Amino acid sequence: MRVAFLGLGNMGRPMALNLRKAGHDVRGFDPAPEAAQGFAQAGGTTAPDAVAAVAGAQAVVTMLPAGKHVRAAYLDAGGILAHAPGALLIDSSTIDVGTAREVAAAAAAAGFDMVDAPVSGGVGGAEAATLTFMAGGTGAAFARAEPLLRAMGRNIVHAGEAGAGQAAKLCNNMLLGIGMIGAAEALVLADRLGLERQKLFDIVKSSSGANWSLTNYCPAPGPVPTAPSNRDYVPGFAVNLMLKDLTLAQEAAAGSGAATPLGAHAARLYAALAESGEGPRDFSVIYRWLAAAARDAVH
Ligand code: NAD
Repeated sequence: MRVAFLGLGNMGRPMALNLRKAGHDVRGFDPAPEAAQGFAQAGGTTAPDAVAAVAGAQAVVTMLPAGKHVRAAYLDAGGILAHAPGALLIDSSTIDVGTAREVAAAAAAAGFDMVDAPVSGGVGGAEAATLTFMAGGTGAAFARAEPLLRAMGRNIVHAGEAGAGQAAKLCNNMLLGIGMIGAAEALVLADRLGLERQKLFDIVKSSSGANWSLTNYCPAPGPVPTAPSNRDYVPGFAVNLMLKDLTLAQEAAAGSGAATPLGAHAARLYAALAESGEGPRDFSVIYRWLAAAARDAVH
């Protein structure tokens, strides 16, 4: 299939390469020269601009930083809706539900099939083609998108109508952000009480307090050798990206009237962590930050 791929950053580049590996004719575009060069150096074909990339494409995949980039890429005069007639549209960026629905409505009005299909699994999952995709859109759009998503991921879920993929992503990441703080706080308290970290880990992993952040991604060095905590919190999933997702979740909560007090507090804690200079590190660095903090400084 002729596929245009817009956004060849940390996630988009390996995703586009996996589509290529699956036999698709991929044409990539990214306005950042280093991103475009990275794709070309890995064997990918690049286009000089978005219009050239999407011309004649049967499918267009976008992996862009935020809602404003997605709106511009699809709706601007030089954008996808104007230049890729009939193409299947897949937006895998993490963006606000409102923009996802707005772009999907414009696409539907112009006769396009579109899914919002944000991902979970990070750069490692993008490289290994093991991402989870949560897709929102009509059944027909999802059926068209699924084979392409399968070339980039392992767990492909149709979450519901347009915007449902973004809704699922925001709920998951709000829970992840809260869960990571919970795991970090338990480890900090254990340290201060003189309880050996490995003992706490061994007990909690098969007890009612177990959560993914502790058992698969332990924020304190030691118990999970593959976790970023053992390599000075090189991401992984950066604090800045977690803060972005928690902020989107808070916007969604405010817009829908959902009570999410822990989500709000988690957003404040990650904002303080980012302000302390840890934004580019893995979000599990919240353990080290809390371990160094005095109780009254963060309550
Ligand atoms: P990134 O900043 O590395 O890449 C985004 C790329 O989009 C950049 O290279 C930028 O130049 C390009 N871009 C901007 N406007 C464009 C346009 N109009 N046309 C083409 N390209 C354009 O970001 P990333 O880490 O690859 O993340 C992409 C998206 O995936 C974000 O929405 C992010 O929240 C989400 N996400 C990231 C991760 C992760 O671990 N990095 C995990 C899950 C989801």
